[in-house]
Amino acid sequence: MTGIEERQPEQHVFEADVSRLLHMMVHSVYSDKDVFLRELISNAADACEKLRYESVSQPQLSSDRAQPGILVTLNEEAQKLVIEDNGIGMSRDEMIDALGTIARSGTKAFIERLEAAKAGEKAELIGQFGVGFYSSFMVADRVDVISRRAGESEAWKWSSDGKGSYQVVAVDLAEAPARGTRVVLHLMPDEKKYTSKWTVEKIIRDQSGHVPVPIHLAEKDG
Ligand code: ADP
Ligand code: MG
Repeated sequence: MTGIEERQPEQHVFEADVSRLLHMMVHSVYSDKDVFLRELISNAADACEKLRYESVSQPQLSSDRAQPGILVTLNEEAQKLVIEDNGIGMSRDEMIDALGTIARSGTKAFIERLEAAKAGEKAELIGQFGVGFYSSFMVADRVDVISRRAGESEAWKWSSDGKGSYQVVAVDLAEAPARGTRVVLHLMPDEKKYTSKWTVEKIIRDQSGHVPVPIHLAEKDG
């Protein structure tokens, strides 16, 4: 990435089903928003597993021999929660595909059930189904995903407020993980509790205890 013109953020519109799902998640009141963290940690662990798998035939993908890991950073001052992994990462096209559409079969049916459900039943449905990455927008009013795919020499940032569209832009390698994905949640004013070490530690213990990749927790100022 060199030319300035390549750094112009590209604007993309979410697939209609994504917009429906996001709208429901943001405009309904759920008792159990904590599930977003389980979803993001599970994605991070999946990415580490995928790297391990792809490295069998392409050892150069993990030539740094770094141990797989997930780092959760709490930043109370900036109201941010960051989940970073050193897994497979995403290329630009993979990001657009994975974070702009709903690939999973059964999701359409789920969205219909969710739209028809009474308020009290929605949380349970979400918990059962696991709405994945998009659950971040229950607690964040902006989400940035910065990723560098294993073996690639470019990094990309996906960013959205969850309101119908997202932007994709190339970023300097220095601003991205050496390999893998960093998900930055800009927490809503009411969701400050997700920068509390005690709270986040407890959620991770309760919901992600089985995750096969080590999870580290750090606190950061500013
Ligand atoms: P699922 O995990 O069931 O596929 P998600 O909504 O949780 O659904 O994630 C959608 C997709 O986004 C994943 O399948 C994956 O391709 C991509 N993705 C999300 N988080 C990461 C990550 N940390 N590293 C690499 N890819 C990711
Ligand atoms: Mg997932």
